[in-house]
Amino acid sequence: METDTIAAISTPVGEGAISIVRLSGEQAIPVTAELFQGKDLVEADTHTIHYGKIFDPAANEAAEEVMVTVMRGPKTFTREDVVEINCHGGMVAVNRVLEIVLEKGVRIAEPGEFTKRAFLHGRIDLSQAEAVMDVIRSKTDKAMSVALKQMDGRLSELIGRLRQELLETVAHVEVNIDYPEYDDVEEMSNDMMQEKTKEVHGELEHLLQVAKQGKILREGLATAIIGRPNVGKSSLMNTLVQENKAIVTEVPGTTRDIIEEYVNVRGVPLRLVDTAGIRETEDIVEKIGVDRSREVLQDADLVLFVLNHNEPLTEEDEKLFEAVQGLDYIVIVNKTDLEQQLDLDKVKALANGKPIITTSLIREEGIDQLESAIAKTFFAGDVDAGDMTYVSNVRHIQLLKQAKQALEDAMGSLEMDMPLDIVQIDVTRTWEFLGEIVGDTASDSLIDQLFSQFCLGK
Ligand code: GDP
Ligand code: ZN
Repeated sequence: METDTIAAISTPVGEGAISIVRLSGEQAIPVTAELFQGKDLVEADTHTIHYGKIFDPAANEAAEEVMVTVMRGPKTFTREDVVEINCHGGMVAVNRVLEIVLEKGVRIAEPGEFTKRAFLHGRIDLSQAEAVMDVIRSKTDKAMSVALKQMDGRLSELIGRLRQELLETVAHVEVNIDYPEYDDVEEMSNDMMQEKTKEVHGELEHLLQVAKQGKILREGLATAIIGRPNVGKSSLMNTLVQENKAIVTEVPGTTRDIIEEYVNVRGVPLRLVDTAGIRETEDIVEKIGVDRSREVLQDADLVLFVLNHNEPLTEEDEKLFEAVQGLDYIVIVNKTDLEQQLDLDKVKALANGKPIITTSLIREEGIDQLESAIAKTFFAGDVDAGDMTYVSNVRHIQLLKQAKQALEDAMGSLEMDMPLDIVQIDVTRTWEFLGEIVGDTASDSLIDQLFSQFCLGK
């Protein structure tokens, strides 16, 4: 296990005013103590904070005013000695302090290395470690809070509870089989087992359902902006992005490449994709755009479908209505500053209950309504992301699916009235898949747990 001391700038979540240089390892306290002008940190109690200055040996002067927190292992995040040097002078100060520390032979930490140490030292389990990694990568506040919740161990807790249920079931069957003479242990029936598996199955389904939302929060709601050329797709994208990256032009069909932008609309992260418009065409360049548009539509979580208020509905528009069938979409009737040519009743009929928002992008009208429609579509009301246990990690989702499948195998066997000792093989597999999420797979731990469940040694 590494014993060298690492350091990095670690700015607290959601704050920019204070920056921290964090050190972890054997040399964390002695190195800081050597540079610190103030109390002797080597003598400092654990989990205490000290005001003083960091001395810069190269410049031979006291460099920065700091507050230093001393935390001795193992009651720290990494379980090693940890020092946090809080700098108040912004990025310049914090960088200077880091440089001074590195001069003393401390190594710069790799991304996620503090977390890796916490995991290696058994401080956190695998799902928590991954949650921390997600925090490092999070792009929005909501995604951040999901990751933080997971880090709190909520997922671990829930998985632990489900595994416990499964374990009790397996143990029960095992006892029935191996110790038939224990008649004080009730016989596990097919009905009882069906009830148990159904319960856990429901929970797994729910987890997988919210997993989709978790993925969206992390990666952004894949949002396709579609519509015929010149209706205002690029303008819409620009409005949402509020900088002019996509090309706005008078010439139809000019936006040929798909451009992606990442924006945060009322807490909903959108990964906006501006397409060339879906239409059948002979033009080769345009065709690439069209094919890609169809692809984009396939992967879209949300479609913003733009129509022109100033033109009658065309066949192409109707084709687009067909293309978005079954998807979440919002119809945007743009250019309301120009004379109405569009048959709104017909649009209403085609939209079939999906929201229709009228905008004049040029006059910046209707944008609020559009943004709230986007948020509504995503949250389907007012769901607070913080209230749910999300699963936002691909490996976890994979394992949850495998666990669910194994459990369904067990349920199928139960329905066919197979012997319970056969059924429990699949229940045990479910237990193992869930165990992999929290990094606990050792199959002999099943045996240990079986014995701690039922005190058979009496
Ligand atoms: P796209 O081809 O669908 O991406 O359309 P663009 O965003 O490139 O817009 C085409 C033209 O319509 C540009 O000249 C825009 O300035 C103009 N436009 C966009 N929105 C509006 C609007 O609300 N009203 C009017 N009058 N013109 C608009
Ligand atoms: Zn465009």
